[in-house]
Amino acid sequence: MSKNKAEKILDILQEAYPEAGTRLHFSTVFELLVAVVLSAQSTDEQVNLVTEKLFHRYSTPQQIAALSVEELEKIIKEVGLFRNKARHIKALSEMLAEKYHGQVPATFEELVKLPGVGRKSANVVMAVGFGLPGLGVDTHVHRVSNRLGLVDAKQPHQTEAGLKAQIPRRRWGKAHHLLISHGRAVCKARSPQCNSCPLEPLCPKNIK
Ligand code: SF4
Repeated sequence: MSKNKAEKILDILQEAYPEAGTRLHFSTVFELLVAVVLSAQSTDEQVNLVTEKLFHRYSTPQQIAALSVEELEKIIKEVGLFRNKARHIKALSEMLAEKYHGQVPATFEELVKLPGVGRKSANVVMAVGFGLPGLGVDTHVHRVSNRLGLVDAKQPHQTEAGLKAQIPRRRWGKAHHLLISHGRAVCKARSPQCNSCPLEPLCPKNIK
């Protein structure tokens, strides 16, 4: 069967960004989950600085659940929205400790029930943490997919559904990282570099 446009795009991006993958530092799925929750509106570098401090002393749901929100806020205060994130991380740690024996559940439906965990985060944990199909849509994936005409979507969850319908499940996790890499390096929000873009021949440039 011949490849569809989405797969051709992924092939080109794979050539351009062979190293595409998460930049977050973690050593367990729980640490990944916390790092992903911390990463909203923060750079991966900021998150890594904070998690290095946090996980050095507290790396299990039970240990983090035992901290007060104020103690957590103090440790993570360099990331954006740290007050909300501290509340969410404490609450999700409590839920994991009480309901899941300290383990992160490996289903999308259970992950999105955890405090502070939206569809994007759950997809990333599925793909990166468990090696299961997951395609998280952040601002880069949403913008680049729309510009490329892969979707015509207002909301990230619509982009997610559109991409999942076109991309084989085995490529979902990698697609997330490739589209982010391209959004950061070339198809930037304010100034897309169409003249030097390897996808230019395939792209309708739906730039709004
Ligand atoms: S051609 Fe331009 S709009 Fe299309 S993917 Fe490349 S940088 Fe983005």
